[in-house]
Amino acid sequence: MKEKELRERAICAICHKPIGASVCFWVLNIQRHVFNVFALQQQQGLGMMIGGALAQVMGPDEDLTIELSNFTISVCDDCAAFNKPLGLYHLAEEEERKGQNDKNESKGSDKSNSDNGG
Ligand SMILES: [Zn+2]
Repeated sequence: MKEKELRERAICAICHKPIGASVCFWVLNIQRHVFNVFALQQQQGLGMMIGGALAQVMGPDEDLTIELSNFTISVCDDCAAFNKPLGLYHLAEEEERKGQNDKNESKGSDKSNSDNGG
């Protein structure tokens, strides 16, 4: 991991402390998916007609799930080791908020003046 990425990952998503307190830390990519029921039924129907293995090759090969959210978090070794609950919904909301803040900051930086700097 290069310095820029490490700086982006410097804060634990659970305890909000710097990850540098311990030697090791975790980087987790978390994805939330919902089943694409129509695609699943289509694939299953084709499987019933020509067999599952053949349907896998002959079928439309479309995604059977739809990705709802995808984010990457850092977790310090203490939080990982002591088995604190991850609270995925809470983490997803935080990441979403952080993403919106990043968008707002980048929009604001185009128009903002340097009066507030420092
Ligand atoms: Zn932590």
